[in-house]
Amino acid sequence: MNIDTKLPKVGTTIFSVMSQLALDHRAVNLGQGFPDFEPPQALRDALTRAMAEGKNQYAPGIGTAPLREQIAIKTQQLYGRRVDSATEVTVTSGATEALFAAIAATVRAGEEVIVFDPAYDSYEPAIELQGARAVHIPLTVPSFAIDWQRVRDAITPSTRMILVNSPHNPSGAVLSCDDLDTLAEITRDTGIVVLSDEVYEHIVYDGARHESVLRHPELAERSIVVSSFGKTYHCTGWKVGYAVAPAALSAEFRKVHQYLTFCTFHPAQAAFAEILASDPAHYLELPDFYQAKRDRFRALLAPSRFKLLDVPGGYFQLVDYSAIRDEDDIAFSRWLVEQGGVAGIPLTPFYEKPPGTRLLRLCFAKSDATMAAAAERLCQL
Ligand code: PMP
Ligand code: GLN
Repeated sequence: MNIDTKLPKVGTTIFSVMSQLALDHRAVNLGQGFPDFEPPQALRDALTRAMAEGKNQYAPGIGTAPLREQIAIKTQQLYGRRVDSATEVTVTSGATEALFAAIAATVRAGEEVIVFDPAYDSYEPAIELQGARAVHIPLTVPSFAIDWQRVRDAITPSTRMILVNSPHNPSGAVLSCDDLDTLAEITRDTGIVVLSDEVYEHIVYDGARHESVLRHPELAERSIVVSSFGKTYHCTGWKVGYAVAPAALSAEFRKVHQYLTFCTFHPAQAAFAEILASDPAHYLELPDFYQAKRDRFRALLAPSRFKLLDVPGGYFQLVDYSAIRDEDDIAFSRWLVEQGGVAGIPLTPFYEKPPGTRLLRLCFAKSDATMAAAAERLCQL
């Protein structure tokens, strides 16, 4: 049968490609973003207990009440926003599902969604499947800040959504209070929905606070804010995330969610509800935990010929490899995994129009031993 593909630009994701190449070449895998250490023991115990206690059938579609309640408590304590766990919080199967559901629930065929390049790779296919169009605005290099004038210029009567991501993958850039004020001003009196991907909300460095859209009362009224327990609790394979949005937006979001997955893995919901209540210190201490890793990784790479960009948040280090090889980032990442024994992620796949930067993304959510093994190889180049 001849398939008329709906997604002609989509192939296998760069994350899968690089993880497979890392396996093939026995390279240290600093590509796909996942910790190589375990989730907290208390969380694993709680998951096992939940299964033993019979939490093995469908959970409520919107998420269990105890987990939604804990998410509401965290949202109020961290961001000062009181959200109704019954109508404004929805548990999803990872942030990926939440992002897809948010886009499918609000964006119509022919409409436009503004995304910032380099943009996380799941955004555009979700937009295209609605028959809508992603309007790409490049972030300013090397700060990866948003040029708000370009946003103003890009808005048309068809603009339905602006998708922001802070801390940003792959650069680690974070939005400031001023950025949020500008976003609020630009979207005021429009029908534009803000989709805020905040999966790295607890990984912000140097004493800075995460400027969640949920802190901004005006913006929060038009926003769907997405997060992921995979990042916060070192369990990317469990695929549990959530979306917080005002009741009317959440109602639309839930219409899609209930037919996309209906509900999320029940035992994990019980486990997260338990650990959020018993050990909030875990996420409060996450900035220090990852800052130590960031600083260690940077110190290990200091003698190398890579130039290290600043990392204000997230768990990725961008490195400029132009002193080592003069080739594009796809070629360099292939050479590095095959010849240098380290897998990283090139930025080109996250751009509509790749700017030709000589930058590679390296994940430092890794044990000391993994970081040391990678650094030893990287310092030889
Ligand atoms: N958004 C961003 C920016 C991400 O980096 C990731 C995962 N690395 C996701 C969304 C997806 O999160 P999840 O694994 O919970 O689906
Ligand atoms: N979000 C992860 C990253 O940025 C990858 C997730 C995936 O492989 N889909 O590395």
